[in-house]
Amino acid sequence: MTRTWTPGTSDAALTAIARTPRLVVALDFDGTASPFVLEPMSARALPEIVAQVERLSALPDTVVAYVSGRSMDDLRVITEHHDDSPVVLAGSHGAQYWYPGIGLTEPVAEARDAERDDLWAAVRPIVAKYDGVEFEPKTYGVGVHTRGAAPEVEEAVFAEVDALVAERFPQWRRRPGHHVLEFSSRAEGKDAAMVALRAQFDATGILFAGDDVTDEDAMGVLGEGDLGVRVGEGATSAILRVGSPQEIAPLLSVVADIRGAARE
Ligand SMILES: [Mg+2]
Repeated sequence: MTRTWTPGTSDAALTAIARTPRLVVALDFDGTASPFVLEPMSARALPEIVAQVERLSALPDTVVAYVSGRSMDDLRVITEHHDDSPVVLAGSHGAQYWYPGIGLTEPVAEARDAERDDLWAAVRPIVAKYDGVEFEPKTYGVGVHTRGAAPEVEEAVFAEVDALVAERFPQWRRRPGHHVLEFSSRAEGKDAAMVALRAQFDATGILFAGDDVTDEDAMGVLGEGDLGVRVGEGATSAILRVGSPQEIAPLLSVVADIRGAARE
């Protein structure tokens, strides 16, 4: 059962994850660390979340990662990431990684660039026909954003893009989200990112927070000793639910307080 966490309260699940020997805090970006914005590249993490990410990253045996569907290049821009950052990045739903002291470690990519360019060329003119719809070129595919569009426009553009992909690119993985429809040549989901981060840092516990359908891939592979946090409405296998990104900062603060005190 998922229970709603209210800022200012304590919760046994937060105490437990804060006390795990080696902790990975993995945060989805859009809608979790950052409130939604109309222009995708203007998204930024809430300052109070950035402050908690810095606090947690400074604690021993504690790593913070952003785990996003964004391509790595875009993710580095919106997270204001720099080369000496302690923050780990997992982009393209777990197909790309950036680790502190190592940098970008990309798995051998399938050579699908030509097909991706064809996909871009076919989707762009569809997007251009509709008001308030944004085209997002992605390393491994394409995103169509409808945050600025009317509901009937969203329905129409998604139907048209679905029909195109079904006809010409049927093997590409479809990923629906809040006002976004994405197609990718990569099969990795955020479940793969959980596996990779757990192995990379020998984590004994993962705190993962996310707000969307693709985040449930990650929630699904969390086990005993981990903690899933769902942001906002929707079906989830998370243990805790918070109302908004604004409530993620106080949640991280509780974890940092307990973890910091236990390690002084
Ligand atoms: Mg999200």
